[in-house]
Amino acid sequence: MDCTRCTTKQCQSLSECTSLKVDAAGIAREYLSEENQKIVRSAAKLVDNGRGGTLGRIEELAEFCTNMNFKKVGIAYCWGLENLASQLATYLREQGLRAIPVRCTTGGKSQAETNSTSSIKSVSCNPLTQAKQLNTEKVDIAVTLGLCMGHDILFQQQCTAPVTNILVKDRVYNHQPFDFFNTK
Ligand code: SF4
Repeated sequence: MDCTRCTTKQCQSLSECTSLKVDAAGIAREYLSEENQKIVRSAAKLVDNGRGGTLGRIEELAEFCTNMNFKKVGIAYCWGLENLASQLATYLREQGLRAIPVRCTTGGKSQAETNSTSSIKSVSCNPLTQAKQLNTEKVDIAVTLGLCMGHDILFQQQCTAPVTNILVKDRVYNHQPFDFFNTK
């Protein structure tokens, strides 16, 4: 399946897609679960009634948390972006939320301890501890901010709260990964 090469885009006009190999009726029922409806409605409030494009991602995060009645927001961030994590935490607190930022070097583990093929003694990113600490803090939602490729996956696999992303780290293109194509 490759929607980018689809010439009909019949889904856009609410027609069933012949390429899909899923239980559409079952998925429709899944949307109607109380938990999913809460998320769908909270997300819709951010864009419905002409609001789409009026909120930045950080404003959306704060409002989404309010819509979901979330109180505690975990921030799993890269140590190199601590200034941004601090700005985000301050803003969320100003919105009445509790922000719990945990940097990637938490736990003070060396790379040799986290990577069995490495002998590097310098500090390692530690996404498993970031996730488990936020689990212990019982956050309502976790936000990833600039975690390394792969570490974000380990974090998401271990974090028991819903996870959303606020910044993708790109060391070459200033956190704008698609600028890569502007250089080609
Ligand atoms: S109609 Fe199907 S294949 Fe085409 S864009 Fe929609 S989902 Fe993708």
